[in-house]
This record gives sequence, structure tokens and C-alpha cells, in this order.
Amino acid sequence: MSHTDILIIGGGAIGSAAAAFLRGAPQAPTVTVVEPDPTYEFASTSRATGGVRRLFSCPENIQMSVASLDFFKHWHTNIAVDDGAGNAAPDLGWKEGGYLFVVDDRGAAIVERNAVRQRAHGVEVHLLDRSDLARRFPSIRNDDLTLAAWTPGDGWLDPNAVLQGFRKKAQQLGAVYLKDKVTGITAQGSANPRSQRGRVSHVQLESGDTLKVGTVINAAGAWAGDVCALLEMPLPVVPMRRFEHYVEIEAALEPLPLIKDLDRLVCRPEGKGYSVGLVNSSEPPGYIFDTDPAYFESVVWPALAWRLPAFEALKLKSEWSGLYDENTLDGNMILGNWAGEVENFYVAAGFSGHGLMHAPAVGRALAELILEGGYRTLDLARMDYRRVQSGEAVREEGII
Ligand SMILES: Cc1cc2nc3c(=O)[nH]c(=O)nc-3n(C[C@H](O)[C@H](O)[C@H](O)COP(=O)(O)OP(=O)(O)OC[C@H]3O[C@@H](n4cnc5c(N)ncnc54)[C@H](O)[C@@H]3O)c2cc1C
Repeated sequence: MSHTDILIIGGGAIGSAAAAFLRGAPQAPTVTVVEPDPTYEFASTSRATGGVRRLFSCPENIQMSVASLDFFKHWHTNIAVDDGAGNAAPDLGWKEGGYLFVVDDRGAAIVERNAVRQRAHGVEVHLLDRSDLARRFPSIRNDDLTLAAWTPGDGWLDPNAVLQGFRKKAQQLGAVYLKDKVTGITAQGSANPRSQRGRVSHVQLESGDTLKVGTVINAAGAWAGDVCALLEMPLPVVPMRRFEHYVEIEAALEPLPLIKDLDRLVCRPEGKGYSVGLVNSSEPPGYIFDTDPAYFESVVWPALAWRLPAFEALKLKSEWSGLYDENTLDGNMILGNWAGEVENFYVAAGFSGHGLMHAPAVGRALAELILEGGYRTLDLARMDYRRVQSGEAVREEGII
């Protein structure tokens, strides 16, 4: 039976970033990533919008975005992989188009309060009133708006490049990827008096193999709740369907940032057209990947045409759906071990729509936590599993 120091369940952006940072650390533990689908057809990472923003309220989220943005800006150096023909890091497709949150009276105070915090972390954020907004972005309807927060240094990138870059880097550093699925986790009693259920000793795979493990990270994204259920560990993370629509219009508009409004409409330039979405907050949880043309017609298009009247005439060219790993407690990631129960079992899930942008910061944080016994770069302790046990939510007010 083979042994691995660290077993990562799920090889998406989060699992692969963790693998790269763990293998890149001086301790260089052995790392095995179990991923059933190397094509990542249904993984959330492959279906994401790719937005990277620092418009958050929680200091942890702002700091993680600042750190990740810096990592992405030095992507080619950070992720350099030698394929024998020089640097083969995939092109990140980074577009520094900026982010723009537009709000009415309901959101103005929050946006102003958040801007103070964001500036304290070095973020260049401009608060635009209606006339500033009209001058800079004339195609955005503003007569129902009070304020906008604009971060010109934010932007978007290619989610698959992030995933493949981290995966190749991890593999080059010696991480082993197994095409398999974790179907069982065995925790056995230990000498640790703080541990109620013992420590994970073995993991069973769909292929019939069993691995001996030192530490386990659950990075199974929208499937993370099912993985925790193998240990009877409660996790308030559910799969929530989210649509993306690619549309084109005839009119030529000014260069637009990624726009979000209080209807939870999202719109950003993509190639010759625009990538658009509108989060349905009452979507029931489930592993549902169907698209729903009626939802675009009746909900997304009207909201889009309201905010950007040039979209009254558009061509819907394609649409798809993907899953948020939605944390129903507070919409923030859960990062850390099952303290007091199964101490060598870590969760990195519940990213609720902002995991891709935070993958570099999360990968580094997991390496610090597991190899050094605590955070060294960013203090993310408030995001640990203890808040699930106590029910104390850490809410993010920057999401609109
Ligand atoms: C439509 C949409 C738009 C989004 N837009 C953004 C955005 O603009 N910016 C942003 O930062 N984030 C965005 N997100 C969120 C982002 O995609 C996720 O937070 C992030 O990709 C999560 O990465 P992950 O590695 O945790 O999950 P995934 O990429 O889903 O990877 C999890 C992996 O676990 C594997 N797995 C499942 N069960 C098992 C098992 N039992 N054993 C082994 N492996 C298993 C799966 O096969 C999967 O590959 C968006 C998501 C969606 C759906």
C-alpha cells in the first residue's frame, strides 16, 4: 500500500495551487492529488468568469485578492515550468479592465465603508457619483444609481490557464496526480487526547486502491460536502448552479470594466462580445448543469438591457452553467482543519463564487498552516472551521 504525506482530494484550481505550494516549500512533503476527471469538464474552475477583484469588505478577502493579484502579475516567473523548451507557463490572458460596483441608496453606505477598508490595504478605489459615472462610462444607465466603486487595477483572466499552470507546476515539483475518486476515509483512534475521532490514516479510492496518508485536504469544490460526509463531518457547502451567457451587440461601446449591480447582474467584455450572468439567489442546491434559455429571456436580458440600454438588441451566442461551492453559513471560504475531532483533515471549500481569484493565496496559506503549524503571511484564522462549529458567521458585505 503506498503512502503519501499529503493527499489532496480534487485537483481544480484550489487543490492544484495547494499542491504547487506544498511541493515548493523547503519541507517538500510527498503530495498526491486525486482527481477523477483530468478534463475538468464539470469542475467549477473550468466554468468560471475569471474575475479578480479587491472590492470586498472582509479584510481577509481584500488581502487575499491583493496577494493573488500580485502573484498573477508575476505569473510567468511564479509558475515557470520547464518543459524542455523554456518557459511553458500557460498564457493567463490577464485583462486589467477594472471592476465597477454600481449601487443605489441601499448599497451606498456599504460601498463607502468598504472603500475605506480597501484603501487601508493599498487598493486604488474611486467612488464615482452619477455625473462621474456618466462621464467615464456613458453606456451605463445611472438615473437609478447613487454611487459606484471603481477599481481600475482589477480585471479578469483565463480560469483554465490558472488551473493548468498550477497543475503543471505541481507536477514539475513532484506532485503525483491520480485519475481516481475518493470514496472512503478511515479515521482511527490516536494518542492525541484533543482528538475525539482520531486521525485519518487511510483513504479508499474508486479503483479499489487504498492509500496511507499523513494529512488530507478536501479541495473538492462543490462536491466538498459529499467528501466531508464520508467522515460524518458537517459542512454547510452546497452546489449552486450559476449561468454564464456570451452575447454580442452591434453598437460599439467605450471599454467597459466588469460591472456588477444590486440585481446581481455581472457583465464584462469578452473577445468581440460580452460575458454576462445574473446570480439567482433562490436557485435550489443540486448538481444541475442544464441551461435555461427562459431564465436568460425573462431575467438576465431585461436586467442587462436596463443597466446597459445598448443590449436591448443582442445576439445570444452561447451559454453554459457551472456550480458555486456555496457556503450557506456566510458566503465565505472555510479553510482549516477539523480541530478537536480529526485534526489531520483540512477543508478548503465554500468559496461561493470567489475561489479562482483567491487560489494563489489559499494555496500558500494551506502550505503554511500544514507545514509550519500556523499562518505566516496572511492571518486567515477567522475563516477556519471553528465558526461552523460555533455558528458564528463571518459575513462578506462586498458581494453584490
Ligand atoms: C459560473 C461561475 C462563475 C464564476 N466566476 C468566478 C470569478 O469571476 N472569480 C472567481 O474567483 N471565482 C469564480 N467562480 C468560482 C470559482 O470557479 C470557484 O470558486 C473555484 O474554481 C473553485 O475551485 P476548486 O478547485 O475548489 O473547485 P473545482 O474547480 O470544482 O475542483 C474540484 C475538483 O474536485 C473533484 N472532486 C469532486 N469529488 C471528488 C472526490 N470524491 N475525489 C476526488 N476528487 C473529487 C472534481 O472532479 C473537481 O475537479 C465562478 C464559478 C462559476 C460556476
